[in-house]
Amino acid sequence: MTRVALRLPSAILLLLAARGAAAQPPTTRELDRINWMEFREVVPKRSDTVLVPFGTLEPHGVTANGADIIAPLAIARAIAPRVNAMIAPAVPYGITGSMEAYPGAFQITESAYRPFVKQVLEGLAKNGFRNIIIMNGHGGGQTAVLQAVAAEVAAEKKVRTLVINWWSFASDETKEVFGEDGGHAGWNETAFVQAIDPTLVHPEKYKPEMATAYPAPGTWAAVPFPSSIGLYQKGQGYPKFDQAKADLYYRKVTHKVANLIVDTIRKWDIAGL
Ligand SMILES: [Zn+2]
Repeated sequence: MTRVALRLPSAILLLLAARGAAAQPPTTRELDRINWMEFREVVPKRSDTVLVPFGTLEPHGVTANGADIIAPLAIARAIAPRVNAMIAPAVPYGITGSMEAYPGAFQITESAYRPFVKQVLEGLAKNGFRNIIIMNGHGGGQTAVLQAVAAEVAAEKKVRTLVINWWSFASDETKEVFGEDGGHAGWNETAFVQAIDPTLVHPEKYKPEMATAYPAPGTWAAVPFPSSIGLYQKGQGYPKFDQAKADLYYRKVTHKVANLIVDTIRKWDIAGL
């Protein structure tokens, strides 16, 4: 009787302490800033989701060469508390493609990129993350590689992967906010960077001649691509530098991405995957 009386309150206290710990956010969500002891307490018990941004360095009209790194990293930071995720350091170099010749651009070949990306994702799985969310910032050949590698790692490591190409996923929001389609370094992407850090956008350097509409498939292909702004549709998506629209677009896109992640994890759980 004495034993039970002593043990029961301590068990309750332990339970309450564990609950308190679970509710308490980590001191940082960033994997390069957390220490190994806290990591062990947090992952996977208190957070088993990680957001990992992938970008590249290439010209973006009148905004930063690293727009494809800056955008997905900003989304990850904005939504991590809501989706209870940790944030892995961005993989900044990628498969740039036809803008490789521009100053400050880098190109990683697919044969080097693919195994590197795979081992990054495998490392996240090994470290206890069950939901690996790939926040892609760059299209072209990179999207296909990320999607294929994410599928392989999901099957081989029994984890759940989601690749989000934010600019395509948000194409409805682009049309809603700007009233037209966007482009690479077009109004939408330039606005997204403007919302994150207006000092990275230089309207004084902008000329409409800096933009070219992407060719319809099979019509023409130029290397280097003749413009650092590529429009998805002719006559639409020229940057217009409206801060209020930029801020609205940023809020809508981050909200939509967070919703997708929450909904996908919930459905994975419901399906028992
Ligand atoms: Zn970009």
